[in-house]
Amino acid sequence: MTEDGLPPLREVIAAHGLAAKKSLGQNFLFDLNLTRRIARAAGDLRDCTVVEIGPGPGGLTRALLMEGAKRVIAVERDERTLPALAEISAAYPGRLEVISADALDVDWPKLIDGSAKIVANLPYNVATALLLGWIGVDQWPPWFSSLTLMFQKEVAMRIVAKPGTEHYGRLSIISQWRCVATKLFDVNRSAFTPPPKITSSIVHLVPRAVCEPVCDIRALERVTAAGFGQRRKMLRSSLKAVFDDPVAVLESLGLDPQKRAEELSVADFARLAQVTV
Ligand code: SAM
Repeated sequence: MTEDGLPPLREVIAAHGLAAKKSLGQNFLFDLNLTRRIARAAGDLRDCTVVEIGPGPGGLTRALLMEGAKRVIAVERDERTLPALAEISAAYPGRLEVISADALDVDWPKLIDGSAKIVANLPYNVATALLLGWIGVDQWPPWFSSLTLMFQKEVAMRIVAKPGTEHYGRLSIISQWRCVATKLFDVNRSAFTPPPKITSSIVHLVPRAVCEPVCDIRALERVTAAGFGQRRKMLRSSLKAVFDDPVAVLESLGLDPQKRAEELSVADFARLAQVTV
């Protein structure tokens, strides 16, 4: 038995026949010390509803409960995990609700009453889509007060990248315009079963109350898509997709039309989004 009185995760996997499926991005964490570190990175959970995506056999779920989460709502697509998760529910009466669903299809504001923190070791194949689904919405401020998420390290670097660096792009701009984003720590591939090919990283995002400069999120998506769709081109050329006269627009904002997208700040892109039609 482990500290929470439940069986070690390796035994849970064996008892319930949970061989990892690649198609579901299943790389499980067995070390409760590590999952508790991830849970603690989300801050104080005691008065909090936590939404977890992809609990799998429950390594992070158990950590969230051990760290005192008042309530955990865990959304899992793989029905094979439900009996293992039911055992955790029974050990923490009234504190764990498991929803058997594809997280990409969930209507979150309808499901979550009040505010929640999202904490997850995300399935890599849908991680970026889930993040953009949460932070790319029209309705802001959102239903969550923070996101503490595991990504492939390369995706984590894109989320927090600064202008002029290799990883800076659309994901950096949308993430940083909407949230304060911090990369917390790396998790070695050997921590997972089966080990993925690459290192993972934990990112913490806190939604901004007001996203400034204020602009329409869809317009911001259009200008960043145009700018980074042709990353090596000068903005005078790449922004033709969104402006009839990109040179005039750029000069009116005091921006050099010869620059490339990667040289503009998040605020510059938001100002460009303000003048799109
Ligand atoms: N939380 C567990 C851990 O840390 O050991 C498992 C993490 S594993 C990287 C990703 C989990 O997400 C798997 O349990 C997988 O079945 C689940 N999953 C994959 N796609 C999903 C989706 N679209 N919606 C909900 N869960 C999904």
